[in-house]
Amino acid sequence: MILLKSDRELEKMRVSGQITAEVLSEVTQIIEPGIETIELDRFCDKLVRLKGAIPAFKGYRGFPGSICVSINEEVVHGIPKKRKLKNGDIVSIDFGVLCDGYYGDKAITLAVGLISHEKQQLLKVTEEALWKGIEQAIPGNRLGNISNAIEKHILMHKFSIVRDYVGHGIGRSMHEEPQIPNYGDPGEGPLLKEGMVFAIEPMVNMGTHAVRTLNDGWTVITRDKKPSAHFENTVAITESGPEVLTCLKKS
Ligand code: MG
Repeated sequence: MILLKSDRELEKMRVSGQITAEVLSEVTQIIEPGIETIELDRFCDKLVRLKGAIPAFKGYRGFPGSICVSINEEVVHGIPKKRKLKNGDIVSIDFGVLCDGYYGDKAITLAVGLISHEKQQLLKVTEEALWKGIEQAIPGNRLGNISNAIEKHILMHKFSIVRDYVGHGIGRSMHEEPQIPNYGDPGEGPLLKEGMVFAIEPMVNMGTHAVRTLNDGWTVITRDKKPSAHFENTVAITESGPEVLTCLKKS
């Protein structure tokens, strides 16, 4: 069952979403060659608690970090550690927040120093694909409209779509129904209604779509070791269209 959120609940989710966006925006400022991924984790963990919220990934099914940090061929779920970012890397940071009983979830992929043209293109297309999906998050559409808009954009640019991991409903739980694949047919799947809140999150590979999990039990990498990008926003479906809860509000 897809849970519909009341106005009161949406108000709380705006707060969680905003904190998620603020922390990711601030960690972006300290990304540079030489910084260790564990430092990024500590930064986000401290900041989110200062804002009165809890890092949602910490301890989730035993995950050790407060952020997922995935470099180059790492797709998702990378563990923060004493590994330094290097010039030319791309780094995905996925961050979840729990505040007053409601979750926010967002991911961005960033360039470390100067990156290749292909990596720039991968980041651009993945972020664009996310927005193509968000545009379809309107009452009266079907879930497949979101999935298909994302898929079309990625395939048009000759990249491949990770199929083993998908977006999800979000609210009082981090992962609610429905699952939101980044591929599919328009007109298929559940009807979208006002009050639904989704974490939409394309994961896009430069080479093969195939992935595998490392022996650490968490880190997912591409099978061909080519780079992968990930962008995610938490989006509410409202009467007047999609409302992105994890975008930074101008203060
Ligand atoms: Mg998510």
